[in-house]
Amino acid sequence: MQDEHTKTDDDKAENSKKRGRETEVEELDSLLEEPSTKRQNHDNGTTTNIAPLVGNNIQIDELGELLECCICKDIMIYPYILHCSHSFCKKCVVEWLRVNKSCPTCRKMILKPPAQNKHVQLILDLLVPKIDEEERTLYNDRKKEHEEFFKAELDRFKNVISNATDSGTKFLKIDKRWSEKEKRIFRIGLERYEGEELKTYCELTGFTKEYIQTARPSQLLIAARNVDTQIPQLVTNAIDYELLRKILMDVISS
Ligand SMILES: [Zn+2]
Ligand SMILES: [Zn+2]
Repeated sequence: MQDEHTKTDDDKAENSKKRGRETEVEELDSLLEEPSTKRQNHDNGTTTNIAPLVGNNIQIDELGELLECCICKDIMIYPYILHCSHSFCKKCVVEWLRVNKSCPTCRKMILKPPAQNKHVQLILDLLVPKIDEEERTLYNDRKKEHEEFFKAELDRFKNVISNATDSGTKFLKIDKRWSEKEKRIFRIGLERYEGEELKTYCELTGFTKEYIQTARPSQLLIAARNVDTQIPQLVTNAIDYELLRKILMDVISS
């Protein structure tokens, strides 16, 4: 009896939660709409699945804020987060930080490069396929533009490299000590590129997965100082080279 009673109460609670979620989903849909766009075919069936993602304890306004980039005033494309916890489109924040040194939202000084906001990316990955076709097309068009922007950046970068190679320029080598200026120059690329692009960039200096795996301890230390990573120590104060290799791996694969 007890179980049944509890079950009925649970059902009621579940139904009430469900209704709450449906309302939230509708509000979420309206948030995703351009002010000038009217949704013609509201289809509950296409939006219900995002309900568990929205959750009952998250205010819809907060979710809206999470998804909007305050620079372009649109839903984020490849969300990146600053250490003050504000997120923007990757392209928007990269361009912003080229001319500004503070967060566009809270004006805090930005001392660390932005990082991918994987949590918001996950929300977008689940949410975008659920929005109506017109909205989705607009979103995907913007996404393509952002991708082209970064591709053009990489092409320019590759051009500079190939011109420099042609004119006999030597690149920094990871096993040589770099000056402070050289470190700063290299860091610009570390902050700008990620994934395959970052790998290509690091390869220019010989800073590769294979190098990190096989480098001698003295070479690892030089690499760590060149790319300004922490040098971890064991409780005995000896350097933890095992962990240092992992830290350096993170640098080339972030
Ligand atoms: Zn943006
Ligand atoms: Zn901020």
